Amino acid sequence: MERDERLAILKGLPKVELHRHLEGALRIGTMLELGRKYNLELPLKDVSSLLKMVAYNDGEPRTLAYFLTKFHSDWYRSYQDIERVAGETVTDAAGEGIVHLELRFSPEHFSRTSRLDLQGIMQAICESARAAASDAAISVGFIITFARERYDFSAWKKTVDLAADMWESGVVGVDLAGDEFNHPNNEFEKIFRRVVDTEVLGTTVHAGEGTTAGQVHTAVEILGARRIGHGLKATEDEGVIQLLAGRRVTLEMCPISNYQTGCVNDLQQHPLPRLDQAGVAVTITSDDPSIHRSTINGDYDVAVTHWGYNLDDLLRLELNAVEAAFLPDDKREELRDRVERGYAESRDQGLK
Ligand SMILES: [Zn+2]
Repeated sequence: MERDERLAILKGLPKVELHRHLEGALRIGTMLELGRKYNLELPLKDVSSLLKMVAYNDGEPRTLAYFLTKFHSDWYRSYQDIERVAGETVTDAAGEGIVHLELRFSPEHFSRTSRLDLQGIMQAICESARAAASDAAISVGFIITFARERYDFSAWKKTVDLAADMWESGVVGVDLAGDEFNHPNNEFEKIFRRVVDTEVLGTTVHAGEGTTAGQVHTAVEILGARRIGHGLKATEDEGVIQLLAGRRVTLEMCPISNYQTGCVNDLQQHPLPRLDQAGVAVTITSDDPSIHRSTINGDYDVAVTHWGYNLDDLLRLELNAVEAAFLPDDKREELRDRVERGYAESRDQGLK
């Protein structure tokens, strides 16, 4: 079967996306337009020249540090700009066949150049994204991302409290991202205790992406993570694998991202299948699709072509995502029904 044919089938599957950064999911056309509007110092002649700066290109260095240079925070100067990118991102996710999206973003990223108020930013993103989700008949929740290198307990505490107050607007969790090497988990114990104490916010932590299994262990034990972003290095310690499997901590794994950042050298050798076999709840997610120049269906295609996953395998991973979504039980049941029905309808499309 040709790749395009497989991607079309994968697009038709109802997918649950637990790990997508709004900052890494902007439309290239929108970046071009905003870049021109605000005279940004970027190559703005056309889409292809801009892509060289804001997306990963084949042959470029595969390191985390290099990958991070692709993110820019000066596209936005008004709430309208922020509402626009939030709405478009949800519309695009629905177009990929995502039926439940947990969209994460750093309010600080959106205020860095715009100087807009964090609460206003959070409200603008939630409202616009929810309206787009409602139009597309999908559901959306929001995860607030903090960057390790910008730690400030009192500022973060205010944001955590605000996030908890915005539960009814769809804020469901808190995430920790950024430089794991220089800012290990133990630095964040106090703020994450606060997150857990809110009782309404789920916790997910980028851990063991390029560091160690120890970082995955402390994310669970010290920060109370119920989900781990990446967690690749868990495979290096049998005890950590057992911990993840035993506690049903779910790994949000992003194969294309892992390859482009150099955290995995060969997609064939990606740790997801091994962790899956060991009983760890793993899920396939997209991370930063516009920077990867991909969609979540590209990540699913890795599972099909590199790991030999069939429809039953994909459904098992999908149900792991349903289980781990930061949702109340009644919504989780509805989502499980929708996913199971959609997979049943896709049975006859030729993907075995
Ligand atoms: Zn991520």
